[in-house]
Amino acid sequence: MGRINHHLTDPLLIAYAAGTLPEAFSLVAATHVSLCDECRARLAAFEAVGGAVVETAEAVPVAEGSLAATLARIAAGPKAEIRTPPKAAGILPAPLAAYVGGDLSAVRWRSVGGGVRQAILPTSRGASVRLLHIPAGAAVPDHGHRGTELTLVLQGAFRDDADRFARGDVEVADASVEHTPVAEPGEDCICLAATDAPLRFNALLPRLAQPFLRI
Ligand code: ZN
Ligand code: ZN
Repeated sequence: MGRINHHLTDPLLIAYAAGTLPEAFSLVAATHVSLCDECRARLAAFEAVGGAVVETAEAVPVAEGSLAATLARIAAGPKAEIRTPPKAAGILPAPLAAYVGGDLSAVRWRSVGGGVRQAILPTSRGASVRLLHIPAGAAVPDHGHRGTELTLVLQGAFRDDADRFARGDVEVADASVEHTPVAEPGEDCICLAATDAPLRFNALLPRLAQPFLRI
């Protein structure tokens, strides 16, 4: 695998560490982290900061209920599985293979036109996540950016204006981003893409990130 050039943002990693991301985003985050040493290290640092704050929380007056709730979520969040990512046997990294119930052969694709296929994975409400299979050289089908979209490349690569995204790269796009991703020639592109409901994610992230980014 080549070098990963596009990573999760700090607010996303912090929310993931806190266990407050919608399930669909958590799956993309877990899958990227399992492929990316850099984000795994940043995640561990955020978890250490969260743990240190929790340890001293009783001595510090906490005015905001949201901060206390966030700290409680950090304390209760899943951590052990993140630090030692299992090896993936095929294209799908272990966190994703667990959702699919196997590797690519277990995916139940449905055509969405233009040769593009998708498979929506079952997750809790609040955001949705799907696998996309885009033929080499084809454009990603029309998809709205009403909220936040995370797109993680698992096979092949796509180009998005000036940027190129290959296996392990994750694109973080919001409503301000207008783009037409096109799969590179030569190899079909397989991505994991998560999108949320409008407004909800935008309201959640700044609230979670602010107390920690000031530390
Ligand atoms: Zn990364
Ligand atoms: Zn997009």
